[in-house]
Formats: sequence, structure tokens, C-alpha cells
Amino acid sequence: MMRTAIYPGSFDPVTFGHLDIIHRASKIFDHLIVGVLSNQSKQPLFAVEERVDMLREVVKELPNVEITSFSGLLVDFARACNSQVVIRGLRAITDFEYELQMSQTNHIMNPDLDTVFFTTDLKYSYLSSSTVREVAYFHGDISAFVPPLVEQEMHKKFSDMK
Ligand code: ADP
Repeated sequence: MMRTAIYPGSFDPVTFGHLDIIHRASKIFDHLIVGVLSNQSKQPLFAVEERVDMLREVVKELPNVEITSFSGLLVDFARACNSQVVIRGLRAITDFEYELQMSQTNHIMNPDLDTVFFTTDLKYSYLSSSTVREVAYFHGDISAFVPPLVEQEMHKKFSDMK
């Protein structure tokens, strides 16, 4: 039986922390579908198509990883992907309460759906897309946080805004 897992998130933008989870999950599951959330109310820096394109580029050497966008409920996206496993990363205690609540809610909506948590590699436990956006906004060096392609796209984005 082929095991498909989904890894949902905003990925605004994708960081080395996300990539670490993608690499590790892609070794455990036969097929990993990264779901990029298209959320109108969240007002992202990058349009969903831009986030999908950047992710595709940075995971192109992983043959069993697929990138797609989704909107609406995670349980519906999981069903559409024929997946019973949701991957999430846990960085710190602060992630825990929210993640626990989400995973329990999803499990009640679809009892076949389970969330599998990956504990973040210590070297990325501080890293979040929002701090990367903040540093890039002030033209700080983000090369330790994101792949070179993302770094370029961030700098383009913020020079366009000026
Ligand atoms: P969301 O807006 O849904 O939290 P994110 O794109 O911020 O989406 O994160 C998607 C997933 O990746 C979440 O499970 C989050 O905990 C995890 N994640 C974010 N940053 C890191 C990191 N530095 N290391 C490991 N996992 C991370």
C-alpha cells in the first residue's frame, strides 16, 4: 500500500526549517504532498502561485514530493489527496497548544486522519517565516534562513515595494 502524507502550511516563504521537515518526511512516506494554503484573510507577502513556484524549485531533486495549493478545510484537502496523515513541525512549547487543538479538531472531523509531528532540528528551532520577512524588510541578511532562490525573491519583493 502506498502511503501518502500531506504537509500543509503557509510557506510565506519556505525556510530551511520547512525544508528539513520535507526531507525527513519524504524518507518515511512514499509520497509527500506539500499543500500551500491559499488564505484570503491572511494577506500573505507572496501570492500562492509564487509560494508554490519557489517550493517546486527548492525540492526539485526529491522525486516523491509534490507541491500544490489548497484552500478550505484541511480534512477536505486530505481526502482529495487520498491521505490519512498530516505532517506538522513542532518548534517549541508555543507551537504545541495550537497544533494539539488543530490536530484534535481534524481528527474529530475525520477519525481516519492523524497528525504526525516532527520535532524541529535544533539548528532551526528559532526559525519562522515571519521573522524572515521582518529581517528582509529591513534589508538584513537572510542567507542563513532560506535557500538562495528565496533570498533573491524576497529582495525583489521588497525592492518592488519601495
Ligand atoms: P502555518 O501558517 O500553517 O503555521 P507555516 O508555513 O508557518 O504555516 O508552517 C508550516 C509548518 O511548518 C508548521 O507545522 C510549522 O510548525 C512548521 N515549521 C515552521 N517553521 C519551522 C522550522 N523552523 N522548523 C520546523 N518546522 C517548522
